[in-house]
Amino acid sequence: MKILKFGGSCLGTDDALKRVTRVVKNEEEDSIVTVSAASGVTNSLKEFVSAPRSEREIDDFLLKLKLRHIDLLPKRDGENRKEALEMIEKKITKLDRLLYGVMYTEELTPRTYDLILSAGERLAAVVVSARLSHAKLDAAAMETDALGLVTNNEHFNAVAILSECEKNLRPTLQSAVERGIVPVVTGFFGITKNGHVSTFGRSGTDYTASVIAYSLKTGPIEIWKEVDGFLSADPKMVKSAFLIDRLSYEEAAELAYFGAQVLHPRAVQPARQRGIDMVIKNLYDLKSPGTWIGTSKATRKDVIKSVSYVPKVATLKIYDTGAGYKSGFLSDISTCLTNEGINLFSATTSQTCVAIIIDEGDAAAARKAMKTHIAGVGESFEIESGRALVCAVGEGLGRTKGVAARVFKAVASKNVNVELISAGASTVAYHFTVDQKDLKKTVREIHKEFFGYV
Ligand code: ASP
Ligand code: MG
Repeated sequence: MKILKFGGSCLGTDDALKRVTRVVKNEEEDSIVTVSAASGVTNSLKEFVSAPRSEREIDDFLLKLKLRHIDLLPKRDGENRKEALEMIEKKITKLDRLLYGVMYTEELTPRTYDLILSAGERLAAVVVSARLSHAKLDAAAMETDALGLVTNNEHFNAVAILSECEKNLRPTLQSAVERGIVPVVTGFFGITKNGHVSTFGRSGTDYTASVIAYSLKTGPIEIWKEVDGFLSADPKMVKSAFLIDRLSYEEAAELAYFGAQVLHPRAVQPARQRGIDMVIKNLYDLKSPGTWIGTSKATRKDVIKSVSYVPKVATLKIYDTGAGYKSGFLSDISTCLTNEGINLFSATTSQTCVAIIIDEGDAAAARKAMKTHIAGVGESFEIESGRALVCAVGEGLGRTKGVAARVFKAVASKNVNVELISAGASTVAYHFTVDQKDLKKTVREIHKEFFGYV
């Protein structure tokens, strides 16, 4: 049985939805569909919810949202359309109450925020299910909070509790499919054990697809998007960047984590645990083979596969003469930063210093957190902004002599100073920081070293 995931760019227009319908209809295997919000909807919810200023604004906002979704429904009158209209109306009413609540209380908790954000996927599931039903498939919209896709309590970046998901999702989805139904499941969110909606972070629907596949022990997972798949580099920097046809789970996970915006950073993990293949597919170019992700069948181990990057990061360095051996030193620092909602990209330690890479946008918050805590956790600290993180990925890096050397020689040949290096934590990736102004040069030179052109 296949899991078909459709991203927002596959759901925003009548043409896109026709293509989606065709893909699902032409699928010979049984399938479960999972959907993101239609393109732009999550962004607009995010933007609006942080500042609903008046009743009038809320009404206008919701009217637009409603009409946009109604516009995406099958045009012809009939049972499907009527049912879908009612469902959309209900979801908009709930959203209306939530937004009024936020405006009057002037308070937005992580729970409420996640609940509001989840509306985009709920609306999209109604639309897609109506479209499929209209095309004579027996489709049904299903919501992951009701299905019991259980997560931990980390709002905006929740992690699924896979054993619970398996227990809850399997019976319902399996029996629906056995009855000939195509479930159209909301992506992007689940529910905490206390019953609160929790979202997975941007592009979270990739992760939903993987959790469903894990829970039903089935695959492959097809991730439908508006691009072909993973490339050898960002085409904005390297014009000749080309499609990568195969990646191991580890390679895909590292690339997704370090900047390639093709896949949710955690999406690989549940699939990998079950050995389920994932394929990135382009809805607008069905002939493109896409990128296949699965158990490593790497053909060549003497090259890297791709170079990715995260721009605008900062390095936080905490000095302490005992940094290397003080137990709990690193965990105290990371707890302190995590409590402030700061995401840690990577950490390296020496005997006298712990260096942590964070988003540049979090530098001020990190400075504040460190100032409050430094007495407890270290002797002094500094933050260096204006850095970029570069990541070279390929199975060969940890296994073949000379591959890493070629990466760094290429960088050095451009007179770029490599600052913090992390190697060895992953056998398939090396990452390091450079000055932000050297980022493009660095990415291009690495690409040239391995592929001969940029
Ligand atoms: N709608 C969410 C987002 O835009 C989740 C997703 O697209 O997968 O990030
Ligand atoms: Mg989206």
